Amino acid sequence: MSRIAYVNGRYVPRAAACVHVEDRGYQFADGVYEVCEVRDGRLVDERRHMDRLVRSLGELRIPLPMPLRALSVVLHEVVRRNRIGYGLAYLQVTRGVARRDHAFPPAGTRPSLVVTATGLDAAKADAMAAEGVAVITFPDNRWDRVDIKAIALLPNVLAKQAAREHGAREAWYVDRDGHVTEGASSNAWIVTRDGKVITRPAEFGILRGITRAVVLEAIRAQGLALEERPFTVAEALAAREAFLTSATQLVMPVVRIDGHPIGDGTPGPLATALRRGFHGYAAFT
Ligand code: PMP
Repeated sequence: MSRIAYVNGRYVPRAAACVHVEDRGYQFADGVYEVCEVRDGRLVDERRHMDRLVRSLGELRIPLPMPLRALSVVLHEVVRRNRIGYGLAYLQVTRGVARRDHAFPPAGTRPSLVVTATGLDAAKADAMAAEGVAVITFPDNRWDRVDIKAIALLPNVLAKQAAREHGAREAWYVDRDGHVTEGASSNAWIVTRDGKVITRPAEFGILRGITRAVVLEAIRAQGLALEERPFTVAEALAAREAFLTSATQLVMPVVRIDGHPIGDGTPGPLATALRRGFHGYAAFT
């Protein structure tokens, strides 16, 4: 259970952790976030997550709330105070508190910073991976700056809820051309019948997932056949394997898409091997 949160300079009991009603995160979803896996009490791929945070903030012209070294101390301190062995660290930065007005607040408005950490059940996650998960497809109705890790997640909320209502774990967004973009909170992958790993390029149209980047490194290091290109739903349905990646789900085998079994309907060997080997390619701090 998580007990302590960091809110704007203070470590406070989570139940008492509050932000101002005029925080622009609350009013406009004017902010960004990061989620890092915690393993053995350490942060996984912190540097990459912080690089992405800096990029997201830069794209939105929100100042960094404190130097990265100090932010790292806060992240580790929240993990430590909550005694998280396995779980996640969550960090959110908004444009701060100001009288409600859509345009940017006055220069000098301090960005708000919230950090929390939550314990997860590693055995449960591994049991889920051993079974594999179901996904549904869903029209991609998001804005075109999904490369920014913005807290504005309403389309993702609706897609994920649709997945839940269909007994699925994730929704895979499909663009107007019939190509899968990514999941509501993960990146999407398939393995073709001839053994090629396919995932969409991350220049635009998807979030540049950190787990995705690490898995790409693992695939390249192992000399596996890889194509970074969009794939269609039809290709996914005909694939030998499918899987998704995110910091909290790592490499999660997908065994059903819109009710159709993928491959033989059980987790594929490549996805399973990439999951097992993942932390050999990740960095711990
Ligand atoms: N795409 C979306 C839309 C996401 O929300 C996430 C999870 N934050 C990902 C992809 C996976 O990114 P990461 O591997 O950095 O968790």
